[in-house]
Formats: sequence, C-alpha cells, structure tokens
Amino acid sequence: MKLIGAHVSAAGGVYNAPSNAAAIGANAFALFTKNQRQWLSKPLEADAILAFKTKCQQLNFDATAILPHDSYLINLGSPDTEKLQKSRLAFIDEMQRCQQLGLHLLNFHPGSHLKKISESACLALIAESINLAHQQVDDVVAVIENTAGQGSNLGWRFEHLAEIIAQVEDKSRVGVCIDTCHTFAAGYDLRTMEATAATFAEFDQVVGMQYLRAMHLNDSKGDLGSHLDRHHSLGEGMIGWDCFRFLMQDNRFNNIPLILETINPDIWHHEITTLRSFE
Ligand SMILES: [Zn+2]
Ligand SMILES: [Zn+2]
Repeated sequence: MKLIGAHVSAAGGVYNAPSNAAAIGANAFALFTKNQRQWLSKPLEADAILAFKTKCQQLNFDATAILPHDSYLINLGSPDTEKLQKSRLAFIDEMQRCQQLGLHLLNFHPGSHLKKISESACLALIAESINLAHQQVDDVVAVIENTAGQGSNLGWRFEHLAEIIAQVEDKSRVGVCIDTCHTFAAGYDLRTMEATAATFAEFDQVVGMQYLRAMHLNDSKGDLGSHLDRHHSLGEGMIGWDCFRFLMQDNRFNNIPLILETINPDIWHHEITTLRSFE
C-alpha cells in the first residue's frame, strides 16, 4: 500500500495534525512536534499526547505512516563544540518527543561543515551524534534526509549517506528519507522513468534500498545539479510527472511515508489524487 500525505500544520497542538492530514485525503503525514525555529519548547503535556494518539487511532494513522521532522536549527555535524552540544541535546529531546507520541521515525537534515572541517570529519560527527541519541532513546529510527547540497550542507551525495550509516552502531535504527527535489538539485536526474530507475539503482548500489524509510515528494524550481533547495508543486517544476508515476508503480516504495512538501497546500488534495491515479 502507498502511504501518501503532506507535511501538515500542527498549529494549536500536535493533536491537530492528524485531522489536517485526513482533510486532504492523506493516509500518511509529517509534522513538527515543536516550534521548528526555536531551540527549546515546553515538554509535551500528557493530555496533548493522549489526544494525538486518540486522533491517530480514530483516523487510522499508524506510526509507520507518520514522519516527524526535527528543528531546522539543529546541526549534528557542527564544527563548533558548543553548537554541536546544543544540537545533540535538542536532537535527543526531539527523539524523546517522538517516543512519547508513540512514533518510530525522526526525519532530520544531516548537517553542515561550515567550511571549517573536512567532509569526512563532519560526517563522522553526524554519525557520532546519532550513536549518542540512540544511547539515550530507544525505539526511534534516525531518518537522514538527503539534501540539495546548498552551502556546506552534506548529505547531497548518496556516498555521504552511506558514510554516515557505516559509522552508526545500531544499523536497525538508521535510515534515509529521499527528497526528490533535493536529489534532482544535487545532480541525480529524475526527469524520465528511465532516469528515475537509474537514480534509484545507484541509490541501491551506494546506500541500499533497505535503508529507505521515507520519501519527500517535491518538484524542483531549480535545475538539475543547481544545488538549490526550492520546492515546486508536482508536475510544475523541472522534474515533471514521470518521476512520481515511476514511484507510484514500484512496490519498493510501499509502506513508507511519501510526504508532499510542495508549495501550495490548497492543491495537496489534488496532488494526492493524481498520485493515486498512477497506482
Ligand atoms: Zn524534504
Ligand atoms: Zn527542501
């Protein structure tokens, strides 16, 4: 089964996210469990946790279909010791929030070297950050998102993802979220069914399909290899529909959250319906 949804608003409380997802015809969703632009948020309250779980149950959202995203401030590969420490504590807090909500996945951007340390030193710090979080929190899988390679962000080459995973001790609790916009902007072609097949063959060879735990479905305003992280509505950007047709028809993408982060929430319902028509 294809689990398709969008990164929906959790304004007013995390328990609002499942209804927002149901309203667009989704059977999956992503959310922030705290304000994504702040380092600290107050802990989730017991009644909010219960309301979230109840809503998910009522609306048939299983934990496998829910993909929380961490704060944008976190840099698990920071060359600055103080920032790194702050990031690691915030990441552990994010994992604990997931666990409290009964969720098993945590989507995050790997990190940036800020041109102060080498790529491999930064990737090693990211892996160490994941290991430290695993020691503190059980059950939650660290889901590394590939990036467009904007600035000094790592994780845009499949080799970066493989290098992080190689240094994670508990391989059962590390995975990857492939964002189609980021993949394309990073230089992997997705403009035809053939190109998409070849890109995923390369992903399988370098990282391994068994690590694919989620996807972000976005078209791209930037061109192939532009390293621009600029999302577009499906079919309206430089990628086009064929990539998404390919994903819908391939059962390797079953039973993982497929999440829209496209720019016009008013057409999410329509985008989901169109994706379903390809199945
Ligand atoms: Zn994304
Ligand atoms: Zn993005």
